[in-house]
Amino acid sequence: MGTMNGAQIMAQSLKQQGVDYMFGIVGFPVQGVAAEAQKAGIRYVGMRNEQAASYAAHAAGYLTGRPQACLTVSGPGVIHAFAGLANAKENCWPMILIGGASPVYQNGMGGFQEERQVELAAPYCKYSHAIEHVNRIPYYVNQAVRHSIYGRPGPVYLDFPDDIIRGECEEEDVLEVATVPEPPRAQADPDAIEQALSVLESAERPLVVVGKGMAWSRAEDEIREFVERTQLPFLNSPMGKGTMPDTDELSVGAARSTALREADVVFLMGARLNWIMHYGLPPRFNKDVRVIQLDIQPEEIGTNVPAEVGLVGDGKAIVNQLNRALDNRQWFYPAETAWRTTLKEKADANLATVQPMIDDESAPTNYYRAFKDIVEWLPDDAYIIGEGANTMDIGRTQMPNVHSRHRLDAGTYGTMGIGLGFAVAAAVVNPDKPVVSVQGDSAFGFTGMEVETMIRYNLPVKMIILNNGGIGGRMGSTDTPARGEPQPPGNLIYGARYDQMVEGLGGKGWYVDDPADLRGALDAAMAHDGPTLVNVVLDPKAGRKPQEFGWLTT
Ligand code: ADP
Ligand code: MG
Repeated sequence: MGTMNGAQIMAQSLKQQGVDYMFGIVGFPVQGVAAEAQKAGIRYVGMRNEQAASYAAHAAGYLTGRPQACLTVSGPGVIHAFAGLANAKENCWPMILIGGASPVYQNGMGGFQEERQVELAAPYCKYSHAIEHVNRIPYYVNQAVRHSIYGRPGPVYLDFPDDIIRGECEEEDVLEVATVPEPPRAQADPDAIEQALSVLESAERPLVVVGKGMAWSRAEDEIREFVERTQLPFLNSPMGKGTMPDTDELSVGAARSTALREADVVFLMGARLNWIMHYGLPPRFNKDVRVIQLDIQPEEIGTNVPAEVGLVGDGKAIVNQLNRALDNRQWFYPAETAWRTTLKEKADANLATVQPMIDDESAPTNYYRAFKDIVEWLPDDAYIIGEGANTMDIGRTQMPNVHSRHRLDAGTYGTMGIGLGFAVAAAVVNPDKPVVSVQGDSAFGFTGMEVETMIRYNLPVKMIILNNGGIGGRMGSTDTPARGEPQPPGNLIYGARYDQMVEGLGGKGWYVDDPADLRGALDAAMAHDGPTLVNVVLDPKAGRKPQEFGWLTT
């Protein structure tokens, strides 16, 4: 038996625990950790900013069902990655951040990039710990993995000091630990299951809301059976999209505001009544709405609106319980009800409102006309990444998802800049699937240099930028102001050639300033076997269809 160093033990522990991907940036003191990870069979992806690497890690965690790793240098590297840690915490997605740290024997001396990383990570984490002994690395990795996927999933932090990384111990002294099994799938109280079905039977205007907690729990087959048997109208949350196909005739996504406002019973499945769901409060919800709530986190039940029935446990297990309980009932929600008619009429009216924008062929184009071509071109099995204010909001309504966990966006934390990191993760985890990212020009800019990462690894991501030369909309003229002239704070370069930036790095780009050319560019991009960017210039005044409620109204 020989000796092993900390980097080797870490790499083998991660691999043992099913951590197959590591996204990061090397430097002091973690260079060797990435190299050992590769030797252990972990796919290492070197990125350009720790922010994007930390976004990639938790998207990969959500997609694979196992926490994946982000590796950073000490101090500033760790701080940059907190962006992803916080986003993962808010989204309830797992990841392991492994932060290099200055050597323990220099603690407090003002060492190179010395920082109180364990304390600083704690508020964004389920578990934050320093590794203190080389031979106990497997213990901490086991703890980290378990904390990240048991109960409500979330991020964890491991502090990995230089002297532990380089420290050695005898192979036989390395602690042996168990591989963390899949989390046990807890079932709900059987009485609550019956009660939930009885409340649904008593509803006049029922609505099922499917959130990303259900997508995480891989409950798509159970939910499909439940919806097919009960015939209940459903609404997918932004990243719950696809858990039930958006194209299903029971989807009321096209009448979202009406469905939420007028439902008398809402069955919330793995979705929170936070800002995305308008807190479950008037005027966006009926003040007397009765709530059935399914969540893995007991204290989530009753948040903002008391729940009449709480179903605590795993989404997949509980919907399966509901389906078994339905065997003893002859009930389904009838085909012809005033509620279905209301929802259908509202959906038709909403479609009629946007149709003129879809049909508008003028150049430069608007969002709806651009999405018309994108939707017709988009493969059914594509991973769709969307971000940017209007680009994301309109894109969500226009681009259907038919598979679960195929939509990744700014999420619960509303983080702009996640797009390219998420796209890298989707492409690395699913090398045989199309990955399409539709971003605003502002969103693209946050981590635009990850284009180099995509090109370096030849990840065939199809990027589309809906480019209105601004954050939100562009104010005033589209001309570039003279030097020294004040500019509206939200303005960016109008017509900026992000397509040329991609070409300069070795990818392929198209510049589209007339909607007549869009479909041709998209087809050429799909035919190209590598990263591409289609840069679509928008009318700077283009926006959303008139909304019943302003943004963020409660
Ligand atoms: P959305 O944004 O789609 O509405 P949220 O992120 O607000 O979804 O809510 C997801 C909820 O799902 C969280 O409250 C989380 O605790 C819950 N959740 C996570 N994993 C599971 C699971 N396996 N089973 C049931 N609920 C889960
Ligand atoms: Mg913009």
